[in-house]
Amino acid sequence: MKNIPPIDLARQYQSVGMAIESAVQSVLSSGRYIGGSPVSDFERRFADYVGVRECVSCNSGTDALFLALRAIGIGAGDEVITTPFTFFATAEVISAVGATPVFVDIEAHTFNFNVEHLEAAITPRTKAILPVHLFGQPVNMTRVTEIARSRNLAVIEDCAQATGASWDSRQVGSIGDIGCFSFFPTKNLGAFGDGGAVTTNDGELAEKMRVLKNHGATHRYYHEEIGINSRLDALQAAILLAKLPYLDKWNDGRRAVADRYRDLLAENVDIVLPQEHPGGRSVWNQYTIRVPHRDRLRDRLSKNGIGTGLYYPVPLHLQPVYQNLGYSPGQLPIIERICKEVLSLPMFPELTLEEQQQVAVSVSHS
Ligand SMILES: *Cc1c(COP(=O)(O)O)cnc(C)c1O
Repeated sequence: MKNIPPIDLARQYQSVGMAIESAVQSVLSSGRYIGGSPVSDFERRFADYVGVRECVSCNSGTDALFLALRAIGIGAGDEVITTPFTFFATAEVISAVGATPVFVDIEAHTFNFNVEHLEAAITPRTKAILPVHLFGQPVNMTRVTEIARSRNLAVIEDCAQATGASWDSRQVGSIGDIGCFSFFPTKNLGAFGDGGAVTTNDGELAEKMRVLKNHGATHRYYHEEIGINSRLDALQAAILLAKLPYLDKWNDGRRAVADRYRDLLAENVDIVLPQEHPGGRSVWNQYTIRVPHRDRLRDRLSKNGIGTGLYYPVPLHLQPVYQNLGYSPGQLPIIERICKEVLSLPMFPELTLEEQQQVAVSVSHS
């Protein structure tokens, strides 16, 4: 039996290597490594893909979130409602701009925050709701939008794990005020290094983010505010341009892998399989099951050469750095239980049926 990694990026490279190599070659020989047509072409095509007027590229998904919060004007004294079940960056940037993250509990079956808890979490300081489309599964954006409109709050979507996912036939990143994307290599559309982008239909917000990512400069060497340096490299833009036409095919491949897991694992009564929300179309960045004896299963799979991921072991409201926010254990009971049960199985478009059968056999014999 061969080893099965949680993700194998080399297989994807083999399928599109030629297109990427020629794109990289043309950047290398152009002599222009910052900005230029690869970056502007990618921004245009990615905006079209998401179905928005504007895309501003940047250096990472983390920077995308930072730019979005700053552009909306969120800062000291403000609160932003989000999920405790996400990669740390989501909350980190809220803190980085001086605001306070407010965490609401999740839904066990979608892993996303429970939209029915949002209204109770709103205070006079609340400025925005920050839904995270975790593991590729879109949040119920119909409810989020309704609540945000009625309370005059901004909506910033964290689409880092969900490029290509849709809610009610609309792409994530086109529904809220700003969508934030990551092109980290393991995301659905991955660069060969760091990369990110924000998407919006609001030309004014887009312009603010363009200024902020360029040291707050409106004209070269004239600085209107304190920004950052956050660029998508021309090389990464060229790679993403070459890969974007394949994204839907890869996401379909992930959906097929998820369907097969559902069939192969159906008989395991003590395993809870992830469910797709009927209103949304997941792009399965992760396939995350819930099991009572998670660590035991993880060890067994590892002994059988099967790599798994543990996303995420500690909910954000109980992270050491957030002790000052005053949450106590037991306060968000669903996420606190689920963190101990989750295990992400190998998931990538090129995963074969034979490999999935091997995973299923190992999972079932635990
Ligand atoms: C990956 C990720 C980010 C951060 O993206 P980077 O490109 O790594 O900075 C933010 N939020 C979520 C949910 C992520 O998965």
